[in-house]
Order: sequence, then structure tokens, then C-alpha cells
Amino acid sequence: MSGFKDECGVFGIFGHPEAAGVTYLGLYALQHRGQEAAGIVTSGRGKGFRTRKARGYVADVFHADSLEKLGGPHAIGHTRYSTAGDNTDDNIQPLAIECKFGEIAVCHNGNLVNAHLLRRELVEAGSIFRTTSDTEVVLHLYARSTQKDRIDAVFDAVRRIEGAFSLLFLTEDALYGVRDPRGFRPLIVGKLGENYVLCSESCALDLIDAEYVREVEPGEMVVIDKDGLRTMRPFTEAAPSQCIFEHVYFARPDSRVFGRDVHQTRLALGRQLAREAPADADVVVPVPDSGTVAAVGYSQESGLPIEFGLIRNHYVGRTFIEPRQSIRHFGVKVKLNPVRSVIEGRRIVLIDDSIVRGTTSRKIVGMVRHAGAKEIHLRISSPPTTGPCHYGIDTPKREELIAATHSIAEITRFIGADSLGYLSQEGLLSAVAEDRDRYCSACFSGNYPVPLPEEGRDQLKLFEKVRE
Ligand code: AMP
Repeated sequence: MSGFKDECGVFGIFGHPEAAGVTYLGLYALQHRGQEAAGIVTSGRGKGFRTRKARGYVADVFHADSLEKLGGPHAIGHTRYSTAGDNTDDNIQPLAIECKFGEIAVCHNGNLVNAHLLRRELVEAGSIFRTTSDTEVVLHLYARSTQKDRIDAVFDAVRRIEGAFSLLFLTEDALYGVRDPRGFRPLIVGKLGENYVLCSESCALDLIDAEYVREVEPGEMVVIDKDGLRTMRPFTEAAPSQCIFEHVYFARPDSRVFGRDVHQTRLALGRQLAREAPADADVVVPVPDSGTVAAVGYSQESGLPIEFGLIRNHYVGRTFIEPRQSIRHFGVKVKLNPVRSVIEGRRIVLIDDSIVRGTTSRKIVGMVRHAGAKEIHLRISSPPTTGPCHYGIDTPKREELIAATHSIAEITRFIGADSLGYLSQEGLLSAVAEDRDRYCSACFSGNYPVPLPEEGRDQLKLFEKVRE
């Protein structure tokens, strides 16, 4: 896959004596949003920016001495998720450059749908690109702005990009947070004492004992500097379309995103699933961790007991090496193991959040069957995933989405369950109740709020061309 499919976590803090250390902690809490690479850039010492970024988990990338060296009172950081094929070191964020406005660094959660068009235009105008990341176009647009002022130049840059973006910019004396007009991805304002913090999810605030202030609103740009926080509106207003999948799967349940408690929303999804897709069974078993909270909701509503019949090994890193003599289903087995005493001879309602390609579900169902389940009723706390996401969640192409090309009966056969039930689209939106019109559920409904430019339908190829 390409470098523009990024599910990421961003964190920034302004004016703190230990900005790098605090950012490190914030990134730790946002590790689930990206495990491929991590980075921090600091500024504000009057001696230039400092950067530390590398592949790996946050804990692998930073150590006491690297945080010490980063120094500086202002910082932004990023945890990056990218899939194989384009995880080159050049693409690790934050990206930092020096231009006529001085030094600037940027990090991004989302996906720009017109990045390839802008990139082509910029290359024709003489820009030299150093990465294959869509985020880099923002820096080129900034550097080429004819405005006098940095804030106006950021305005110029962000007004040209389209799609999903929660962006943080760091200069020598300011931190900016920008959320696209539809607010696809979350971005939160917090306060640690007198210091403002910006981050993807509120769980990052909890870890550093910061207070939750509010969301950066869709279409809002906040500028944080020595005078405090100012708010600006660079964009024409658009109807919000926040990502429903943040609540289904992506955000941590202990977070508040889009002004809503993720745990409670996920519970509501599970309860609704029990109403819509009941099962004649003995016990509810979650697929950890993705199905855990919805399974609690399912159990509450159905009255069936919940038991932890699958145990997850939390220490499986991305560096896990498959031995040559491949054991069947090894990939899933190393992560999940069934508890035979919970499963044997029983009718199981297995709960997971989504089926993408169907290969994981097939392996898990096989594993539960092998552990002696009498019946397996798989229930999914979201509707069939029928369309790819163009706004920052990594989903495969439409052809690879099993629900885009197969009926529910065919999927049930493929994964080997006795029955399969999904949540309806209506049921999904009922979990966000009064805010339902403020959500994007394009991956389930096919209603894409920001269309891909016609040429963008094959973005990957275009990016590859640029790279050649
Ligand atoms: P599969 O159906 O084999 O493609 O895998 C589905 C599983 O992947 C589900 O259990 C989800 O929890 C998880 N999943 C769904 N979407 C994503 C995503 N964008 N990134 C990583 N994992 C995901």
C-alpha cells in the first residue's frame, strides 16, 4: 500500500520545560494509532529544530538520552501506521524543513484526496520532493506562499488541500492545530497547567494528567503561542463527517473523541447488535481487544453470560518472524489462544468489530471450532464493510473487501461459522444518536462525503510514478 494511507496519532505541546518527555508519554498513549514508526520534533531554544524519528514502537525509538537531546519547550510528535511497501524512513513524521519563513515541522493524521494533483503541480513548478507521503505537499504549499506572515502562509497551504486532515504544525514560536472542514479525524485541546496540548485522543491527556478542554472543531485552526490560544476559520463551512470507525474500532475505549465517550458508544453498538442479531447460545465470547466492549454490550442486552474464551498475547510485536516450517494459522495463533474450558461443548456467540478481508475471522472461527465449540454464531458490531476508506483508515481495495463481493451466506460459509450477523447501518448510527448527521460511514454505506478527484482513483500508481 501507499504512503498516503495513514492511520496515525498526533501530539503537541507548547511552552513546557519538558516538552519532549511529555510528548513521548502522549505518543505512548497513542501507540494503538500507529505502530510502524514514531517521531518527535522540538523547537523554541533559538538554536534550530531537533528531530528524533525512527521505525518501531515509541518505546524503541526514544530513550532517556534521546529525549534529553531533544530538549526545547515546544514539541510535536507522531505515531505512524503504514502498511508494507512504503514504510521508508523518509516518510516518518513529523516532517521538518527550512524555508523563507524559517523552520517548520508538520505531522498529520488523515489522508489528502488531492495530494497527487497538488504534487504534480508543485513538481512542475520546481518543487523537489523528499518523501512519498501526501503530507509533504502541505510543506511545499506553505514554503511557496506569497504571504508575508507565517499564519497566512499556513492558511494558504491548508486551504488547498482536500480530504481528511488533523494537522499539527510547529514553528520556532508557535504550535498550530488544523482540522479539516468535515472533521474526519479527531483533534483535542487539553491543558497541562498553563500549557496547551493538542492530541488525537483524550487518553493521551489522562496519561500526562492534563485536563480535557475541548475538540478542535471541524474547520477550525488554533494557533498557540506565548499569548495563549487563538482560533481561526480558514475554510468555507461544510457539513461535518466524523469517522464512525473511530468509535467502532480505532480509538481507545478510554478516550473521548468527537465529544463522545468511546466505551459507551461501543457498548451501545453491542446492545443494538444483540437486539438486531440475537443468537440461541450459551455464552458470549469477545475477540480481544477489538470485540471486547461490544461483547459486554451484547451480553448486557441478551442476558447471556460473557466469558473470556480467547486470550490475547499482548507482546506480539511487528517484528514477529514466521518460522519457515509454518504451522497452520500461525499468524493468528501467536496472538490469540482459546480457553478450552470456556469453549468446549458450548454454543458460542463470538463478537468482533468488523470483517475486512475475512481471513482473520476464518482463522479465529477455525480456532474456536478446534477448541470444541458446539456452535459458533459470529456477530459483528458494524455493518458489512463494502467500500475502502479514502479518509485515513487503512482498508484494502474494494475487490479485497469480502462483503463487497460476497453475500452474507457466502461469507458465513467462507469463515465457517454456523451463523453470521452484522449490525445494520441504521443500528450503527443509533449508537451516536443525536449526532448521527455529523458522521461519515462511507465504508459501510458508499456515501463518500468528499469525492476522490477522478484521477485519484488510482492514487497509488500516480505516487509510484512520481517516485520513479
Ligand atoms: P480481516 O477480515 O481478516 O481482514 O480482519 C478483520 C480484523 O481486522 C477485525 O478483527 C478488525 O478488528 C481488524 N481491523 C479492521 N479494520 C482494521 C484496520 N483498518 N486496521 C487494522 N485492523 C483492522
